[in-house]
Amino acid sequence: MTTRTRCWVPGAERPEADFPIENLPWGVAERPDRPGEPRIVVAIGDAALDLAEAAGFGMLEGLAPRIVSALRMPTLNAFMALGRADWSAARAHVASMLSSGAGGIERHARRDAVLLDRAALSMRLPAEIGDYTDFYASEHHATNVGSMFRPNQPLMPNWKHLPVGYHGRSSTIVVEGTPVRRPHGQTVASDDGPPSFGPSKLLDHELEMGVFLGGPANALGERIAVGRADERLFGCVIVNDWSARDVQKWEYQPLGPFNAKNFCTSISPWVVTLEALRPYCRPGPVRGAADPPVLDYLRRGDDYVVDVQLEVTIASAGMRAAGTAPTRISLGSFADMYWTMSQMLAHHASTGCVMRPGDLLASGTISGPTKEGRGCMLERTWRGTEPVTLGDGTERRFLQDGDEVTITGWCEAAGHPRIGFGRCRGVVMPAA
Ligand code: CA
Repeated sequence: MTTRTRCWVPGAERPEADFPIENLPWGVAERPDRPGEPRIVVAIGDAALDLAEAAGFGMLEGLAPRIVSALRMPTLNAFMALGRADWSAARAHVASMLSSGAGGIERHARRDAVLLDRAALSMRLPAEIGDYTDFYASEHHATNVGSMFRPNQPLMPNWKHLPVGYHGRSSTIVVEGTPVRRPHGQTVASDDGPPSFGPSKLLDHELEMGVFLGGPANALGERIAVGRADERLFGCVIVNDWSARDVQKWEYQPLGPFNAKNFCTSISPWVVTLEALRPYCRPGPVRGAADPPVLDYLRRGDDYVVDVQLEVTIASAGMRAAGTAPTRISLGSFADMYWTMSQMLAHHASTGCVMRPGDLLASGTISGPTKEGRGCMLERTWRGTEPVTLGDGTERRFLQDGDEVTITGWCEAAGHPRIGFGRCRGVVMPAA
């Protein structure tokens, strides 16, 4: 067990804290006394460090000017674009500011101007997301969903050879806490129609992780080697890819999801860096003996999965009014993926597709081998045939208006403190 760096910030050393000094996730927030001026912040304990303000007081002295100017921007895009050495230098500098002892700002005269009550902040999207791609990288999820619609061939022939994905819609990515409006769409009552148009009746959540890309963009036509993917992986967030299953079922053939997935995607606001996640990575993924070998451009000897524990809860409007605790629907791990972040990135860029800093790649629904490990209602209730019972005694096949879905994520490993992602939450609003 290594000796921990001590941190003087309240709440940072609580055993269940999401944001100890070993985490230091990046975010963008507006503080109550500076509305309309989003700034880059780092979560620490019950507080957040305001980097723009810290730069103004000279507290970032010692960092390269390009880093300081990137940290004064209203989004993380410029900082994400810098690259791994600069991300690491900034992280080390922030850690020294927040650690007890020499270099810390505990006794700095302007300490209280830069260290903010985290609960009072209004979180924003961490970056301007240029492009958003959603994969389908969990074998359990793809097999479960495939077996409902194609019992004889749950996985398509390509599935174990490439990470299947689709180009999503960045314009409808929202930060956690934003209400989710039940969408309208075209659906059919029976397999051969005719269709009608109206509010989706089969609204679902999808438990996912996303990775923000960083580093300078590759040139058009230039591939990204799977072994060098880490240079482009900035950090991770929780993703809820809200989905309209009845719309999806009618529209998805032959080109895949379209309107069923473009009305809202929620992300958690704190970007946990790959550097912070390193202690919770392990070699992987483990493939079955009968699985085909992956092609060379997707093979990485030191590839890894990240063991992020992920929990989904639902609280109905009535439960929240009565103070009833939310009901846990799923518990899974990001380590249960068939394809890794490195492989998703290398495959995405294998044509020479430009991958820019601030782009977001999501994993697809994360499902594990057990029933509780299923990461969406479609699987969890097996198309509604096995409803789940909430804490107020009501049943759910899919989501109802007023339901609040909350995803939390955290990492644990022997010899290391727990770190967390915070939460990704949304309340379902009635169709307008
Ligand atoms: Ca998805």
